[in-house]
Amino acid sequence: MKTYKHIGEFRAALSELRRAGNAIGFVPTMGFLHEGHLTLVRQAIRDNPVTVVSIFVNPIQFAPNEDYETYPRDFDRDAAFLEKEGVDYLFYPSAEEIYPDGFSTTVNVSGLTDGLCGAKRRGHFEGVATVVTKLLLIVSPDNIYMGMKDYQQLKVVSKMVKDLNIPCKVNGVEIVREDDGLAMSSRNFFLRKEERDSALSLYNSLSLVRKLINEGVTSSEKAKVDVINYIHSYKNTRIDYVEFVDPDRLKPVENLNVSFVCMLAVYVGGVRLIDNMVFYR
Ligand code: AMP
Repeated sequence: MKTYKHIGEFRAALSELRRAGNAIGFVPTMGFLHEGHLTLVRQAIRDNPVTVVSIFVNPIQFAPNEDYETYPRDFDRDAAFLEKEGVDYLFYPSAEEIYPDGFSTTVNVSGLTDGLCGAKRRGHFEGVATVVTKLLLIVSPDNIYMGMKDYQQLKVVSKMVKDLNIPCKVNGVEIVREDDGLAMSSRNFFLRKEERDSALSLYNSLSLVRKLINEGVTSSEKAKVDVINYIHSYKNTRIDYVEFVDPDRLKPVENLNVSFVCMLAVYVGGVRLIDNMVFYR
């Protein structure tokens, strides 16, 4: 695996490969890798002769009160994982490389970013859309792989790629979970023992929604009240949102007779966790 920190050299290396007709698969990450990330990486390796992974904790997608400084980082461990998987190229730029002095252009996807994490984390998706656009322009991949765990992010990037005619296929990958159902996340690392138990409230409430649907509940209002009460029954939980939304437009749905996604964001202690489940009807 070759590691590049500078855009110029990295581009030069990739352009030779591209000239030779190799399709490129790309997995953008913020590092501190786990099986969720590695599942994306394995799919990229299966589908493409060349696989590129980036590790970049993107400062502009964090608000000043969020965890940019404390976000977990361990480059050597991540690089060893990626090497073992058989990744060809690792792009590991500094914040200054991506946002040099005077940088002033951003990408904004309207509509899809109005609610959910877009409403709760002001500027977050502008930061995500901007960095993903930059990475797509740097790597020019044929395929990008993103997790359904960040469902809104996946939708926002898909819309941006379509709207801007970026010649890349966006591949969504199923959520990878721990044995007990907790969605894997770099932030799980920060959960203390008793918080780890409370973190299960997210997955268990998605299972509760499935049970309610099987029992014939169709009111999202009723399901929401049940989920909120259920999450509050765990210690140290603070709900950021519980929403039932249309899978494509991400607008709230009232009647659960149609396909929908249950989207959750919950603080467990000081750690903000998200999870979701798509219900096809
Ligand atoms: P992050 O490093 O958190 O920015 O995540 C990088 C990519 O990995 C994103 O596309 C995430 O959606 C994806 N990802 C993170 N956790 C999981 C998971 N548990 N299952 C599937 N994909 C994931």
